[in-house]
Amino acid sequence: MSFDYDLFVIGGGSGGVRAARVAAGETGARVALAEEDRYGGTCVIRGCVPKKLMVFASEYSDMVEDAKSYGWTIAPGRFDWPAFRAKLEAELDRLEGIYRNLLKNAGVESFDQRARLVDPHTVELADGTRKSAKHILLATGGRPVKPDMPGAELGITSNDIFHLAELPKSILIVGGGYIACEFAGILNGLGVKVTQFYRGAQILRGFDDEARGLVSEEMCQRGIDLHLGTNILEMAGAGAGGIRVKATNGTERVFDQVMFATGRTPNADDLGLEALGVERGRKGEVVVDEYSQTGVPSIYAIGDVTDRVNLTPVAIREGMAFVETVFRGNPTPVDHELIPTAIFTQPEMGTVGLSEEEAAAQEPIEVYATSFKPMQQSFAGRSDRVLMKLVVSKASRKVLGCHIVAPGAGEMIQLAGIAVKMGATKEDFDRTVAVHPTMSEEIVTMKTPVRSA
Ligand code: NDP
Repeated sequence: MSFDYDLFVIGGGSGGVRAARVAAGETGARVALAEEDRYGGTCVIRGCVPKKLMVFASEYSDMVEDAKSYGWTIAPGRFDWPAFRAKLEAELDRLEGIYRNLLKNAGVESFDQRARLVDPHTVELADGTRKSAKHILLATGGRPVKPDMPGAELGITSNDIFHLAELPKSILIVGGGYIACEFAGILNGLGVKVTQFYRGAQILRGFDDEARGLVSEEMCQRGIDLHLGTNILEMAGAGAGGIRVKATNGTERVFDQVMFATGRTPNADDLGLEALGVERGRKGEVVVDEYSQTGVPSIYAIGDVTDRVNLTPVAIREGMAFVETVFRGNPTPVDHELIPTAIFTQPEMGTVGLSEEEAAAQEPIEVYATSFKPMQQSFAGRSDRVLMKLVVSKASRKVLGCHIVAPGAGEMIQLAGIAVKMGATKEDFDRTVAVHPTMSEEIVTMKTPVRSA
């Protein structure tokens, strides 16, 4: 049977673009890709990239303050959101152009349209055109969801934040995950009065307790009005663009803006999956095996639509493993173990491996941890603290988890992640000479466990 293409990719985000261009450019496959929105997907257009640029923008307010303590005569200016936003948009246009060119140069034919499946080898584009392919790859990502509550339509999500005409004076952020905590820090740094509601006992559920406790403390220290064990009961318009929020803690307040960061859902609806018998999981995700293959042999899925580990570098790995498996005849499962990750709060949190709580539930452990005032901020008169922590197996001496809360923790954990992934023991860390004076040298100088469990 002959097909129009060897591969048809639906979705032009990090995972889809990588799979398409490597399959076409390096294996000579005939590849097409359909994208209904902008190329680059969540990460480039409405996630990691614009978020990180906003993190940078937000951190200048502290830097200006600190510069005075270092002897600079410096007057804090005013943050010009429209000027920043215009530059941000130009940068995203540039990056989108790069993504389009990567596809074009690799020989991928792209369609700026929505696509859906009509049979295991055929997709139908929004204009009605049908294309056949030997393999179909779903890389449609995910999207933010708002809770089902009266007035929720008044709130925005992380998708909208980059498009605001002006910054609000006050905002309520709902949620305690990556996105809620990162935007609380960003907006606080940009001068917005930030209130955050999280329904649980501590933000960043699932991460190491001691690390998330410190992030939460530092966020409050910086002026974020964080309410734990609190959620919205109801919300309604309050005139003059304000939103009146009744909270479960009995308070009632008006905010300029409410942002929901209450989780994301896979983009797997209206793709024609049900009719083909492609299985979907409890959250609506596309169910795949270790090779990213669905129960329908010609259909594969990678990235957030599969809801495995929802991170850009993981989607890229899944895309590469898919190409290796399908187009190079070398079945390659995706390794989801020991993935380093960072949360860009102030201070940042970088983490790899097991939390103390997870490790202790698994086997006897020793915990090495130190919390201190870093030199640079301490000299500037700040009370900020950082944390360096290793969770070590008593039996094998392997470092099971490394948790860092500090400025630059994202950069540090990338490197610590190599050692942990290689199976380094505590003694391997000890054998490494410190780089002085740095914050991260503490990770190799912790001699005595603070506790065993
Ligand atoms: P998360 O799933 O991490 O967090 C959702 C938060 O919303 C949780 O605190 C959750 O509470 C809360 N929540 C859920 N439903 C409700 C509700 N009905 N009412 C009130 N609160 C609710 O999602 P995010 O949107 O923050 O991030 C999605 C994913 O994106 C992350 O898991 C991560 O994989 C990725 N990401 C990665 C980043 C990075 O690498 N730096 C940055 C941003 C996103 P509870 O804990 O009680 O369930």
